[in-house]
Amino acid sequence: MLGIKVVLEHMDDDVSGFLEKRSDGWVAGVNAYHHRVRQRFTIAHEIAHYVLHRNKQSEFLDHTFARRNDDRSTMEREADQFAAELLMPEIEVRGAVDNGLRKLNDLARHFDVSTLAMRYRLDNLGYRMG
Ligand SMILES: [Zn+2]
Repeated sequence: MLGIKVVLEHMDDDVSGFLEKRSDGWVAGVNAYHHRVRQRFTIAHEIAHYVLHRNKQSEFLDHTFARRNDDRSTMEREADQFAAELLMPEIEVRGAVDNGLRKLNDLARHFDVSTLAMRYRLDNLGYRMG
């Protein structure tokens, strides 16, 4: 997709992935040990770096949500926002809620994301649910 090669690699648990420019093109690495829903978010996050930031840096290393802190760079926040919009488009989230999906777990399953990512997205769109 987009000319990015995605590879699964063994990484420390607090690393979610990376994006880097190699001699033969851009490569997005994903932590092979992480759950599939986290890997999906990581890939979306690395795609965001590629789309938004590839002219600014040629190497991005990403830690997990738990390791990230409040003074994360603008680029990291932009990449998370982009990933959330890609995996949980606003119109689809609102449609799912309107159609009766009101529980965090049900919505997370529907969008195939972690409950953490789903909760951030719902907060962001002004929903409060358990
Ligand atoms: Zn990042």
